[in-house]
Amino acid sequence: MQFVDEYRDPVLIKRLSAAIHERVKDRQYRIMEICGGHTHSIYRFGLQELLPSNIELIHGPGCPVCVLPMGKVDEALVLARTHDITLTAFGDVMRVPGSKESPFQAKAQGADIRMVYSPMDALKIAMNDPSREVVFFAIGFETTAPSTALTIINAARLGIENFSVFCNHVTVGPPLRAIMDNEFFDLDGFIGPGHVSTVIGLTPYDFVADEYHRPIVVTGFEPADLMESILWLVKLIDAGEATVENQYVRAVQREGNGAALAAMAEVFEERPKFEWRGLGSIDSSALRLREPYQRFDAELRYSVTPIKSPEPEGALCGEVLIGQRRPEECPLLGSSCRPESPIGALMVSSEGACSAYYTYVHRRLVTNGERP
Ligand code: SF4
Repeated sequence: MQFVDEYRDPVLIKRLSAAIHERVKDRQYRIMEICGGHTHSIYRFGLQELLPSNIELIHGPGCPVCVLPMGKVDEALVLARTHDITLTAFGDVMRVPGSKESPFQAKAQGADIRMVYSPMDALKIAMNDPSREVVFFAIGFETTAPSTALTIINAARLGIENFSVFCNHVTVGPPLRAIMDNEFFDLDGFIGPGHVSTVIGLTPYDFVADEYHRPIVVTGFEPADLMESILWLVKLIDAGEATVENQYVRAVQREGNGAALAAMAEVFEERPKFEWRGLGSIDSSALRLREPYQRFDAELRYSVTPIKSPEPEGALCGEVLIGQRRPEECPLLGSSCRPESPIGALMVSSEGACSAYYTYVHRRLVTNGERP
């Protein structure tokens, strides 16, 4: 299959692995992959095992459902249970645990919560039954925010008044800054996210190089993409060069996607503050609806009260999400927390580090008798 097979070519990947081994110096390289899609590929293809032991890949906070704190799921479920509405959400979100239940569990107990594949599906539900209020539980980075923006523009254009959005869209730059401001991480470079960069382009990462003097290479999701970027990063780190590079040229343009950015700019403005799982409150790190579209804002329409919910006892979700701990360090992984009965969001989404580790490493270790 074009654009897959050539990026999974074992000969090419072995060649890149050998080049990295040859190239590395006698030092540590701490490289963070920001995006959960990269974390998934690293575990799926066993890439860490192809790298020298002095290259450490640290999983960053780029899984869209994982960054959502439990309180946000609780707020959505209060919305669904206390108002006569239909709550709609992506499939991943349906399984994310709140402090008492997930949207799926609330649905099983009678709440009108429906899974949709896009915000336009939610708008269609509203259009098909004008007597019913429909709320879309919007999550994700700039990757998914444009589709929410376009849906709201459509709702306004069509005069649909029984539709609103519980907006939890976040932006990728501020959490990166929060991580670099935290001395714990002491990172040498970044594997830049691929999906979100198809929308925002490369310019939003300039501060990583200019202010924090770290290189970042925006990268595709196949094993050869990642190995090529790691080699590139090793060269930049050794040369002391802090630049923003684009390995994912087949999908990402420096200026991003103009139409998507324009739709976002029309509908959204920055939120002054937003709560992140594992990172706490970060200034200007999320989006809310701007004035001409505020009648579609579910938070305003239903006066949503913020809820702060603590992580479950013993869970390390926050620390794992930001790379301070590794999935295998969580005592709940594989015992009470498994994909079919997740305790935390990182076990729900395929982009979650715990789900990827469980699927591609933990199961193998258990089968081989190396882990109970
Ligand atoms: S194993 Fe489960 S509880 Fe532990 S950090 Fe991962 S998602 Fe959270």
